[in-house]
Amino acid sequence: MLPHACLAALGAALLATTLTACDNAPQQPPPAAAPSAPASPAPVTTPLWREFSGEKALAEARSQFDIGPRPAGSKELAQCRELITRSLTASGWEVEEQAFTNETPRGPVRFVNLVARCSAVPGNKPARDTQRAIVCSHYDTKRFSTIRFAGANDGASSSGALVELARVLALRPSLAARVELVFFDGEEAFVQFTETDGLYGSRHYARSLREASRAGQFTYAILWDMIGDKDLTITLSPDSPQPLTAEVLASAKELKLHSYFSYFDRPILDDHVPLNQARIPSIDLIDFDYLPWHTADDTFDKLSPESLRKVGAITLHHLERTISK
Ligand SMILES: [Zn+2]
Repeated sequence: MLPHACLAALGAALLATTLTACDNAPQQPPPAAAPSAPASPAPVTTPLWREFSGEKALAEARSQFDIGPRPAGSKELAQCRELITRSLTASGWEVEEQAFTNETPRGPVRFVNLVARCSAVPGNKPARDTQRAIVCSHYDTKRFSTIRFAGANDGASSSGALVELARVLALRPSLAARVELVFFDGEEAFVQFTETDGLYGSRHYARSLREASRAGQFTYAILWDMIGDKDLTITLSPDSPQPLTAEVLASAKELKLHSYFSYFDRPILDDHVPLNQARIPSIDLIDFDYLPWHTADDTFDKLSPESLRKVGAITLHHLERTISK
């Protein structure tokens, strides 16, 4: 990959080009002041993928991890939900709480997905028919009675990075309006994955898309799960749909990050499965080569901002390339 100094120099060069172009533009009278209009961030003209900060993503993940274990139905998960909602709202996203109750092996549980949308016109209410891609993650952590499990990689890493993705996308509202961000509740099984235990949030969300006749508006979905390990290895499920997988790998290759990808030796059951079943081609960017998975050792010291940045950059590169108008 390019060394950081190179990237910074390239970014500065692009910025310089932009400034020169603006300097040559004919002088316009200043626009009339609109006191009630919210202040919008200055438009970003360089490729958005450069704006994704691994450090900011890691800080969001830290805030979630610090809440402690966050299983479905807990007050800690409600606290995490408030945290995520506050950050998304501050970036200009509207957050819908999609609440539902499901039977589980532990009795009925109330789950809440967070669905975030952004308007192409900052300050306006977002429409529901402009989105073409879904980027999603689960924000619950697996419930254990024998260990304290706070899910640094399995829960916080991808959800923290998704909050950072929201910040970056909002820098270009026309692209943000074409993306739906979803934080799934209840990905984890209470006992073990079956048709009816686990993937509660994604199954409900996929059903709600079909019922609202919205599934057809999406070209694809990208799921993030366990993307923060210092030793990043994206282990794609062998049933990852083509040509979506080829397109994501092309973005990774352009950023010289394709060496972090490999295929897992068997299908991975995750939140992308109900979306694929709803006929939305969906890929799971997951690092299943992670020894502390579902152990008390899934702690914050295992995470690296650079891993989060890589996955964030590839995803943004892909979004810009495929669904920009
Ligand atoms: Zn898990």
